[in-house]
Amino acid sequence: MSHWQNFIAGSWVDSSTSIEVENPATGEIFATVARASLADMETAVSAARNCVNSKVLSDCRPAERAELLYRIAGEIRAISSEGAALAVLENGKRLSDAEDEFAEAARYFEYYAGMADKIEGVSIPLGADYVDYTSYEPFGISVQIVPWNFPVSICARSLAPALAAGNAVIVKSPELTPLAITWLATACQRAGLPEGALSMLCGTGPEVGAGLASHGDIDQIVFTGSVPTGRAILHAAAERAVPCVMELGGKSAAVVFADADIDQLMDSVNWGIFFNAGQVCSAMSRMLVERSIYDQVVDRVAELAQGLTMGAGMDNADITPVMSAKQQQQVLAKCDLALEQGAQLVTGGVAGGQSGYFVQPTVLRDISAEMDIFQSEVFGPVLGIMPFDTEQQAWDLANGTDYGLVAGIFSNDINRCLRGSRALRAGQVFVNEWYAGGIETPFGGTGLSGFGREKGQEALYSYVQTKNIAIRIS
Ligand code: NAD
Repeated sequence: MSHWQNFIAGSWVDSSTSIEVENPATGEIFATVARASLADMETAVSAARNCVNSKVLSDCRPAERAELLYRIAGEIRAISSEGAALAVLENGKRLSDAEDEFAEAARYFEYYAGMADKIEGVSIPLGADYVDYTSYEPFGISVQIVPWNFPVSICARSLAPALAAGNAVIVKSPELTPLAITWLATACQRAGLPEGALSMLCGTGPEVGAGLASHGDIDQIVFTGSVPTGRAILHAAAERAVPCVMELGGKSAAVVFADADIDQLMDSVNWGIFFNAGQVCSAMSRMLVERSIYDQVVDRVAELAQGLTMGAGMDNADITPVMSAKQQQQVLAKCDLALEQGAQLVTGGVAGGQSGYFVQPTVLRDISAEMDIFQSEVFGPVLGIMPFDTEQQAWDLANGTDYGLVAGIFSNDINRCLRGSRALRAGQVFVNEWYAGGIETPFGGTGLSGFGREKGQEALYSYVQTKNIAIRIS
């Protein structure tokens, strides 16, 4: 049984109490992590404030920050196999996916390293008597609250641009998966990140998460997680008008037309809803299929789901466990409710046979807009399918939830794809490949899926504020 510590103000710090970490593939507790206290939080905030006041990151040559980020990326790559093995144990995910997560984390640092020396303002002409220009300044202390499904890559997604812009960062790591993420702190430490520029705390959400969100001396909150928690954080932030980036949940739909390439679609279904056991905010959790190919597509999806292997992440099985016993119960309860409300079970809908928290890949057909399974996030390997008759009906159904994270169109008609990409209410639209795009493409939602953007060049500007300098020439 290993024990892990928090990274506070440049040191690894223990605590009098700890949080147990469970392997979802077996249900065994295999590690503990120091449970950060409110006193630890205060230490992290004052170290971050000292770092901000020293201007060590914000006033150096931007190229030096870029160098620092490149070094962090190198350190992440160096520790990625050790970190990935840990991610498999605590998260249940496939080893290859955990390795991809570390590779992606390194890419975020490289990508934003390349931008650190290009955060340029503009000159605004005001006539002969004035000089006017803008500059971008870091917020100061960026608090980043991270969920358990992709803790390493989601942490890097916000940490890298925040540091590139010269902020100090306090990460609240997720209680269920607090271990692999600590390797990012190790990488930052080894790369020479100044003391206080990063603290990483594993405390509980209601204590340290809420404590940070309502703290009187922080300057920004970046939250990735569920809608109810996001709402609570927004209330806290409103008290001091602290700016937020909110990356929340989704109920995203793929719209499949009769002229779609069905083999290509099946690859997208496999990634879209069964990758990471469906625990992806932008999962393809609904599929709307043109009626003439509805039965054919349902049969193909059933065949795909029934052919998937189920097992532990170390074995690189297709379907890995969901995060916890609670998550498993919630997913199965959502399946039961769907059946009570009239959806038809095609396959799955029950727990897997192994020990641990498995849910069989599940396909439900004939869902409808009034059903809970159509409207609410499941966060498991569960796909709901329904038919549509007209193009307009398809867009309306896809837009028929309170969420708006991503959407997909599968068709060989470019005009229809372009019409759909305008009609769909989502932060990102995939055409003919679910998860097309990458760390270079802006990501974020509308509606209950949140606001603000991560990834891409645009995300860097989530971590700076504009200052205008207006000068009268005498
Ligand atoms: P969650 O909201 O339960 O927890 C997220 C984080 O918030 C955790 O670190 C938790 O400790 C903390 N937290 C809990 N209560 C808090 C409080 N009162 N104040 C401050 N912090 C608190 O979410 P989860 O179950 O970890 O993650 C799943 C959810 O995250 C899903 O809804 C999923 O769609 C969403 N998600 C969104 C994205 C995205 O980029 N849009 C990415 C991944 C996950």
